[in-house]
Amino acid sequence: MRLDNQRESTNVERRRGGRSKAAMGGGVGAIVMALVAIFLFNEDPQKVLSQMGQGQSQQGDAKPLTPRQEAMDKFVRQIKGSTEDVWTKIFREAGSEYRIPKLVNYDGMTRMKTGGVADSRMGPFYLPAEETVYLDTSFFDQMDRELGGGGDFAYAYVIAHEVGHHIQKLTGKTDFVHSKKGRISEIEYNRLSVRLELQADFYAGVWAHHDNENYRREHGENRLEPGDVQEAMNSAKAIGDDTLQKNAGQRVQPETFNHGTSEQRMRWFNRGLRTGDINQGDTFSMPYNQL
Ligand SMILES: [Zn+2]
Repeated sequence: MRLDNQRESTNVERRRGGRSKAAMGGGVGAIVMALVAIFLFNEDPQKVLSQMGQGQSQQGDAKPLTPRQEAMDKFVRQIKGSTEDVWTKIFREAGSEYRIPKLVNYDGMTRMKTGGVADSRMGPFYLPAEETVYLDTSFFDQMDRELGGGGDFAYAYVIAHEVGHHIQKLTGKTDFVHSKKGRISEIEYNRLSVRLELQADFYAGVWAHHDNENYRREHGENRLEPGDVQEAMNSAKAIGDDTLQKNAGQRVQPETFNHGTSEQRMRWFNRGLRTGDINQGDTFSMPYNQL
């Protein structure tokens, strides 16, 4: 990605010095928990946390940032800034106003405003109650090592996917799905979760489309460089439910999916990227087997 001159968001809060027990201990358990957590993006994080241990957030004794961390922090602010520009324009053109979400960039663990503790083992997530994305950029290192290879556009896709969940909060889809919890079968609820996740992937693609257009208008060349889209595709592939279940040595059980298959995630992201048209992203009306 060409990021020169990209405006940095002022809606990113940097919190330092939280320590996660898992982050210190590492190991297979922590990795598995992180993998599971990625796929709980649209679950209630506070519930996830209560299942994951009750670590206390310990701020303080923050070491100086490494050059890599500083670069990642800047990258996060730039991508967040670009999502703000793109979605503000899309909402304005549709006759409404984009309410900008917050992003908390933290290390290890941090206390959430609404109670509970965000833990890097959960992977990045969007908390609808706070309209806030919680992100520990060490997740990007984990993508490099274990989740499809990473790369800057793959990281951007992750941020844009979480912002996609914020779009769903604003359009009422999040509340619609959550209101069904406990009132429909688990299988039906999982299917709604898949619809929500695929739409967030689609919105990530829509962002990338307009971000690239904006850049081209200003600089006369694409923001995206050869290989960028493949990076995001590799990540989408690595974090599909079918691939995860296979990697975890389990039989692939479509009825337990709540994020969609690798193929579906790539396809919906691509659809957003290709069209840039938010009206092409209705993952809720079509029959489930045609998603
Ligand atoms: Zn998600």
